[in-house]
Amino acid sequence: MDFGTVTPLVYLLSAVLFIFGIKRLGHPETAAKGNRLASVGMLLAILATLLDRQILDFTWIIAGLVAGGLIGLVMAKTIKMTAMPEMVAVFNGFGGAASGLVATGEYLRIMDMGGTLAIDAGVSIMAGTLIGAVTFSGSMIAYGKLQGFVTGNAVSNPFVRLLAILLAAFAIGSAVYLVGFGGDLPFYWSLVGSALILGVLFVIPIGGADMPVVIALLNSYSGLAAAAAGFVLENNALIISGALVGASGLVLTNIMCRAMNRSLVNVLFSAFGAGTASGVTGDDGDKVATSIEAEDSAMILGYASQVVFVPGYGLAVAQAQHKIRELADLLTARGVNVKYCVHPVAGRMPGHMNVLLAEANVPYDQLCEPEDVNPDMENIDVAVVVGANDVVNPLARDDASSPIAGMPIIETDRAKTCIVIKRSLSVGYAAIDNPLFYKENNRMFFGDAADALGLIAEEVKQL
Ligand code: NDP
Repeated sequence: MDFGTVTPLVYLLSAVLFIFGIKRLGHPETAAKGNRLASVGMLLAILATLLDRQILDFTWIIAGLVAGGLIGLVMAKTIKMTAMPEMVAVFNGFGGAASGLVATGEYLRIMDMGGTLAIDAGVSIMAGTLIGAVTFSGSMIAYGKLQGFVTGNAVSNPFVRLLAILLAAFAIGSAVYLVGFGGDLPFYWSLVGSALILGVLFVIPIGGADMPVVIALLNSYSGLAAAAAGFVLENNALIISGALVGASGLVLTNIMCRAMNRSLVNVLFSAFGAGTASGVTGDDGDKVATSIEAEDSAMILGYASQVVFVPGYGLAVAQAQHKIRELADLLTARGVNVKYCVHPVAGRMPGHMNVLLAEANVPYDQLCEPEDVNPDMENIDVAVVVGANDVVNPLARDDASSPIAGMPIIETDRAKTCIVIKRSLSVGYAAIDNPLFYKENNRMFFGDAADALGLIAEEVKQL
């Protein structure tokens, strides 16, 4: 068979599958199908590449596929939903490393053959090396910050910034020199070294709290590195998929920044959260938060006509997605109109709540967004906030000096009654107090989200 003509057509088909796959990822109902579609596209691209290159010995390739496939399978099956950002960080890092290694391999091959770097190949190799190395080390630091073995504090040290700027200038200067004046192996290795340190210095100053945004940005970088590797290997499928990852990573970064009402510059350079520790008990001063127990909660919920559940990070920690569904089903069976309102940055990664609720088979028509609920909030009988904090914090709306000022929120403080389920008055991710807890129409249900929802469900059954 003439693979010369078939391969580009298969690549084109793969690209179409990637694009339709990404399109379908935009809605929880179609996301799983989208994922499968894109996976088929990737499988076709891999098969076409392997057959096209007239490979004589598949031993190492099969060993790599089996080892990589197994590691990926075990990681995907065992990872906790709350640790998803860490896993994505590791994947981005490996993606960057793979692209950097491809570029390095090609550079060494050209040098071995005593050849000179053509401008186009040189630019691709240097871009792949630089972006790949920055992505790798930056992602490893992001992983470390989320895991806790690298400090999660934001570091606002001008020396670190200055060093990063100098290193960036050196790395870009080296890349330009290597392309312009040809091979110089020690110089190439110093470029690799400076790019690796640059990745560390890029991520170190940013607080652990902002890691999900940084990871989305690094995801975009890993795509750019892959596209550069595609140019190095003259492989169109890799160029296309790299460009898609690069662009979608940037779009995602932008969506996350907008949902927090912060600019990317602010996320990267403001040392958000520096000096504040999350998990500090909220400042209750002389304000009083009124608590509620399961029996009273069940009474209020069971006789309501409109109830909105607002899930947050605590739902993920407690793995309470099945319990929330169980309670919602009991209420629906009693004729209560139930909705789940999902904030775009609830939890710790984009779509975090959607994934959890989908796992519990929550009907898609019960899902809604803040802009669907907020205008009608006065008519909601009970808003049940489950392990959410920042995304319902009225300070974002009412206090222009608050660190989360302007962040769109779900305005549960305007519901007739609000019940907040969490273990204490502790702060959330933004490490700021939440006046909602002390409002007259608010009740605090202190406890683990799964336990609390279970207890309320038991009481609803008794009504
Ligand atoms: P928050 O981090 O504001 O609050 C979560 C709350 O969950 C905590 O206050 C905690 O209170 C409670 N909690 C923890 N464990 C449990 C448990 N087992 N049972 C019940 N409650 C529990 O979460 P939100 O979802 O409201 O907001 C997300 C935050 O993350 C926002 O600030 C957002 O900007 C940020 N962010 C989100 C990203 C995303 O992509 N989703 C990316 C980057 C940042 P207590 O300890 O008292 O129980």
